Amino acid sequence: MSAFDFTQWPPLISDKDREILQFRATSYALAHGLLYLPPGAQPSAPTSAIHAPISLFPTPFPRDLFKQAQKLQSIYNILYSRIAMDTEFLDQTMGTEVGVGQVDEFTGKLWSGWLDLREKGLVQPLHLGLFRSDYLLHQRDSDLSLKQVEFNTISSSFGALSQKTAEMHRSLETSTNVYHASANLTASKFPSNHSTSDLVKGLAAAHLAYNVDGSRILFVVQAGERNVFDQLWLEYELLEKHSIHVVRRTFDELAHQANISHTDSVLRIELPDQSAVEISTVYYRSGYTPDDFPTNTQYETRFNLERSKAIKCPTIPLQLAGGKKVQQVLTEPGVLERFLCDEAKYGPQRVFSVQTLAEIRESWMEMWALDLNGEFGVRQARKRASDLVLKPQREGGGNNVYKEAIPGFLDSLSVRERPAWIAMELISPPVGLKNYLVRAGSGASVETEVVSELGIFGWSLFGGGKVISEREAGWLVRTKGKDSNEGGVATGFSVLDSLVLVD
Ligand code: ADP
Ligand code: MG
Repeated sequence: MSAFDFTQWPPLISDKDREILQFRATSYALAHGLLYLPPGAQPSAPTSAIHAPISLFPTPFPRDLFKQAQKLQSIYNILYSRIAMDTEFLDQTMGTEVGVGQVDEFTGKLWSGWLDLREKGLVQPLHLGLFRSDYLLHQRDSDLSLKQVEFNTISSSFGALSQKTAEMHRSLETSTNVYHASANLTASKFPSNHSTSDLVKGLAAAHLAYNVDGSRILFVVQAGERNVFDQLWLEYELLEKHSIHVVRRTFDELAHQANISHTDSVLRIELPDQSAVEISTVYYRSGYTPDDFPTNTQYETRFNLERSKAIKCPTIPLQLAGGKKVQQVLTEPGVLERFLCDEAKYGPQRVFSVQTLAEIRESWMEMWALDLNGEFGVRQARKRASDLVLKPQREGGGNNVYKEAIPGFLDSLSVRERPAWIAMELISPPVGLKNYLVRAGSGASVETEVVSELGIFGWSLFGGGKVISEREAGWLVRTKGKDSNEGGVATGFSVLDSLVLVD
């Protein structure tokens, strides 16, 4: 429970101070690489950039709930690693014979490709996950709790830019007097955030485990990506702190430039001078949406990379583990116990207490499958529509169906398609919380009522039934205008933000 009054945020400031903050914030962002590429076609060597969308104040968050989210991350790292290693569970849940893959084409294609590769024999037992667990504050009367929105296992973005946003808010605190308007806006209440170096430690751990001198890490990226600086900061950190080089390629480039050895399955990428370089780790910042696979060629490229000896971040099973369907199935009786309490499988030192399982469950909203017990799942969704969001098996924003749109949507959804969707109870974030949001090129900051989503990063290197190494790896806050349902920063709905911990 928190006594903090969210309706009193941000503190009252003059128009002059608001202008000072905006000037300082956008200048800081431009000077420190808190950037996006501008919209529209860009030259291949970029010549300009714009600042990322940002908030002028950090967002208050109860200290105990922030600590709780950080504490849960290790358990989530282990949980999702074990899900990715449980082939039988993934076949049941996501496969094309009995799972979601029957009706969701994208899931089905990935799963079928993986099945084919499994039958031929996969040579790399290790998987790397760079994760982000997303939460909203949930308010019931005066009681506040932490509720998970989703768990991301592929292309978890904004690690680097979120660190820079936290640094920007720190700089506003020291360089102006404006934050003096609130006793809460002091540096000692801003939690530290080292997400760039922490996430890169995960990539470096995989590279080290691969252990071949001169090998490089491959970033598989989208053509026309505007959020490149978030990725480039990881590249610079890999090179400067770990002496690891990165090669960036799109699926289309890889169709011609990736070569997998017939004898030892080593993945090599052709460089512009025609030489080839061995890849230790494949890090996907694409491949999470069917839009990244317009033809079969991109799927073939993905499956080729999957069968190579390089360590994948993520493998196909780890990507499947991040499906919304898995998130829902985890709430069914006994499923969490399967992954966290099986002493015979994981060993007595590596299982979790009843108390820990209760804490994990406490962070979930109610979820069910639309095909639950014949018509029951859909009937419940109609009855409780005003309290629900429906989600398909997609990542990256813009796919969900909310509240009053639900009944009409259910009318149009065929019985066959139902298993691809889950129903989730809506989280109710504190009302009356405001912030000033700034977008490049749009003039003055916008004062608006907001909802802030906290993401906790983590990584895990695992394989052969065991988690080898895992860490919590910093955090992210995305803040959006209250009236926009979706959360993607890159799609223009929300801004990057940071935290001030309140008691
Ligand atoms: P995606 O994979 O598209 O990011 P999410 O599950 O994160 O899917 O949903 C997108 C956005 O929708 C979230 O960022 C959040 O703003 C909102 N949202 C999702 N689930 C809920 C929920 N249960 N309650 C309230 N808002 C939600
Ligand atoms: Mg999301």
